[in-house]
Amino acid sequence: MLPNTYPVNEIFKSVQGEGFNLGRPVVFIRLSGCNLKCPWCDTDHTNHERMTIKNICDQVNKFNCSSIIITGGEPCLYNLHKITSELQKLGYWVGLETNGTLPLKGFFDYITVSPKQDTNLSIFSAGEVRIAVDASTTVEQILNMVEQITAHNYYLSPIEKDGDFNYLAAINLIGELNNCQTKPFRLSLQMHKLAGIK
Ligand code: SF4
Repeated sequence: MLPNTYPVNEIFKSVQGEGFNLGRPVVFIRLSGCNLKCPWCDTDHTNHERMTIKNICDQVNKFNCSSIIITGGEPCLYNLHKITSELQKLGYWVGLETNGTLPLKGFFDYITVSPKQDTNLSIFSAGEVRIAVDASTTVEQILNMVEQITAHNYYLSPIEKDGDFNYLAAINLIGELNNCQTKPFRLSLQMHKLAGIK
């Protein structure tokens, strides 16, 4: 049976700070829980309130914003068919941010997959692939992740550490990647963090 409630960590309006939709005003619906434990994860998604689809739609409707991104944690832990079809019926553009390891269960206008090291993907095509990298990330690791999926856009996103982004390591990786394979990578900065907005 499809769920009528979801564990919602937070719902807030901001702008998309990364990737192809950079600068797009969006309402983020952050769902609680994740199937991975990335050491550098900076998202507090543990706390949650169980919300009905109607409660979620009522809350989203207050923001006067036509775009929604469902994020996490890992939103694909949940069957999202009902909530995404309801949001699309209301006229919203619905995006998804996922680590890609679980099958897609929902209707989306745009999908961002952020593969993680040593994981197998269950989603094989996307609007964008955005990979978080730091100074220890190797070209081989990225090739292993990206060989499992095709996308319209490919990004490397430097991980922030103590307020610092290691852009140079990411730029060097992009140079190497674009020399050795055909998927064209670009740099994606976390502009919301640089701008000091949520
Ligand atoms: S997949 Fe995303 S939410 Fe889950 S642990 Fe990794 S960074 Fe955090």
